[in-house]
Amino acid sequence: MRVLAIGECMAELAPAERPDDYRLGFAGDTFNTAWYLAMLSPDVEVSYFTAVGDDALSARMVQVISDSGIDTRHIRRLPGKSVGLYMIALNNGERSFSYWRGQSAARSLAGDAQALAAAIAEADLVYVSGITLAILDQGGRETLLQALRSARSAGKSVAFDPNLRVHLWSDPTEMTETIMRAAACCDIALPSFEDEARWFGDEDAKATLERYARAGASTIIVKNGPEPVLYREDGTDDITMVPRLTSVIDTTAAGDSFNAAVFAGLSAALPLSSSIEQACRLAGQVVQGKGALVPVGLDLLDQFA
Ligand code: ADP
Repeated sequence: MRVLAIGECMAELAPAERPDDYRLGFAGDTFNTAWYLAMLSPDVEVSYFTAVGDDALSARMVQVISDSGIDTRHIRRLPGKSVGLYMIALNNGERSFSYWRGQSAARSLAGDAQALAAAIAEADLVYVSGITLAILDQGGRETLLQALRSARSAGKSVAFDPNLRVHLWSDPTEMTETIMRAAACCDIALPSFEDEARWFGDEDAKATLERYARAGASTIIVKNGPEPVLYREDGTDDITMVPRLTSVIDTTAAGDSFNAAVFAGLSAALPLSSSIEQACRLAGQVVQGKGALVPVGLDLLDQFA
């Protein structure tokens, strides 16, 4: 299987050992998923589609993506631009984030419809998130949605994690309307209940599931933190219990890693129920580590070999 993830990867400055020392890393929701997928499934061809600048930081990012086993051939380089950056501050163990991403090259990732179509043409499964859509201007959103519709008509699968981040949108209505337009372009929807309940007023996970089903998704997986995962495949609903954890350290990228395991399971032709069990195990390991990209145990990797 060939998977194309589309979105924004950012430079990350995380506190290092000494005060005022920072470690450079790279992360971003769709990239995190690509990273976990490349780690879980060496047989899956994972490609990342984004735009970066032509400066040293952009070059370093592309190198790191490539070193993670992800194909970077379709990453566009825009002259005079750079990548987005965020910095993590620690205050009594609580993390807070500052962002500089308003001018990032990734905001223009859909600026070349042909480049997008060429990348999608090489994929079997195309993955985007609500953050991918949020960072684009109106023209970019229309280009991306059209590209997803074309991908679907060409027999490819489209997977979508709404990843609702209201501060990236002009207002909540713009967010919810655009999210549901994207939902209408996808086969696999991967929402998280807590966010959906807040912005769509869903009473329970079933209401979230039904909304994405009405939009046209055939496989819907509703994540819900430590609560059971509710899913529908071919019209049949079921739940998977999430293993209980004694300590949760950092929930960053829980959903991103979960999605990667679902795609790994798909590519290994596992039943969806088994893929979701593995996804819960992977996300369970990720929330017990620090940061977005947590190396995981070999026992998990064997499941997809
Ligand atoms: P997101 O990161 O998209 O908000 P969730 O918070 O719903 O996603 O979590 C995704 C998955 O991560 C859950 O389905 C579960 O498998 C795992 N997870 C998240 N929080 C916990 C937790 N407190 N205990 C155990 N597993 C968790």
